Amino acid sequence: MARQADSEIIAAIATAHGYGGIGVVRMSGKNLGPIAAQLIRTVPAPRQATRATFRAANGEEIDDGVALFFPGPASYTGEDVLELQGHGGPVVLQMLLRRCLELGARIAEPGEFTRRAFLNDKIDLTQAEGVADLIEAATEVAARCALRSLRGEFSKVVGDLAGQLVELRMLVEAALDFPDEEIDIVDQENARARLLRLRGELGRAFESARQGSVLRSGLQVVLAGQPNVGKSSLLNRLAGEDLAIVTEIPGTTRDAVRQTIQISGIPVNVIDTAGLREATDAVEAIGISRAWKTIEQADVLLLLVDARAGITAADRQIVARLPAKPKRVTVFNKIDLSGEMPRAVESKDGWHVHLSAKSGEGVEELRRLLLMLAGWNSGGEGIFMARERHLGALKRAGEALERAAVLVGRSELFAEELRIAQCELNAITGKYTADDLLGEIFSRFCIGK
Ligand code: GDP
Repeated sequence: MARQADSEIIAAIATAHGYGGIGVVRMSGKNLGPIAAQLIRTVPAPRQATRATFRAANGEEIDDGVALFFPGPASYTGEDVLELQGHGGPVVLQMLLRRCLELGARIAEPGEFTRRAFLNDKIDLTQAEGVADLIEAATEVAARCALRSLRGEFSKVVGDLAGQLVELRMLVEAALDFPDEEIDIVDQENARARLLRLRGELGRAFESARQGSVLRSGLQVVLAGQPNVGKSSLLNRLAGEDLAIVTEIPGTTRDAVRQTIQISGIPVNVIDTAGLREATDAVEAIGISRAWKTIEQADVLLLLVDARAGITAADRQIVARLPAKPKRVTVFNKIDLSGEMPRAVESKDGWHVHLSAKSGEGVEELRRLLLMLAGWNSGGEGIFMARERHLGALKRAGEALERAAVLVGRSELFAEELRIAQCELNAITGKYTADDLLGEIFSRFCIGK
């Protein structure tokens, strides 16, 4: 991997597009002092809010605001960073950005500040991903977990595992490389015990990351049922008081077809098939065909029926039009009218939940069932925001250790599996290479002995 950040100065409007109280233009580069001097006629004291007039080349005022200067390497990117806080209007911010470009900056690519932070070893890959996940978090629990990753807690767990692997490899590889040395060659029992412990810890890290990935991707639910069975009532019930604070997940909208609610902090994206019936124009038709694609990928099909009528021929017709892949949950609503007890039972055509959206009885059972189907089984503490990439790497590392477990006596093959596992872990944080491993071995091994 080329680990060198390029030397160009980058600039971007860092605040969201639109109108706001304050807007920020941010720059990063090797030497921003001269640029600051031209733009605001002074180089602000490091890390101190400095009142400044932002000026055009001819000295004319662009805006009046605050400048913050973070000289590298003690900055977000590790280079000089200059933040210009002005008035949050699109035109004035564009003028300020254009002025930065005129002074030698180029427009930053998406995520480029964070990429530089990674390339300059301010943060590792997992932390960089945590930055994006925090910004995109759809619920408070997701935001807390992303922050944990950003702070490096996930990296630490992965780093500890990788460290233990290095130690184990050192034991084995020392025996391979220096067969004549008098070292305690692989104490097989010791190796086996270490490996066992490592596999346990890796398993726990995987589970924690898996929970994090649930939190990140949420649960995709298709809601179906005849008119008036209580679909909107149930959705409001499920969302409860959280409805107001759920934000849109990028790529979804809050319309008749899609809604995002949260259950215990898990984002639940609900597609209501009732909204899919009439497409009156081409744009709507595109939206609807996109919704059908999502439906095919959904995790859960929630079929609502009236508890008094049970599953009718009309309901079967609805189900017949929907893909078979999502796990089916049939909700028998309005038990306050049918007089049944609230309950959730597994049956041969999926789960049956008897509840009343009106009285709320049985709704908690449905919530719990949905969380279970999402694979969520924790309160969100100690969970790291994780991505498929992390899960894949942890899984492959685990498989390598599993293979290693039956190769304990065969040093070369054993070492090779450990190496594979270590590469997988290192790929997660983007750290460590084979060179590092060599360095690690020789720094601890007394070669002159
Ligand atoms: P949708 O057309 O499937 O979205 O159904 P609505 O949520 O609009 O509900 C249709 C009607 O059924 C409304 O008058 C609701 O108040 C009523 N309703 C919904 N759920 C219940 C329930 O559990 N018990 C009773 N008694 N009425 C309900």
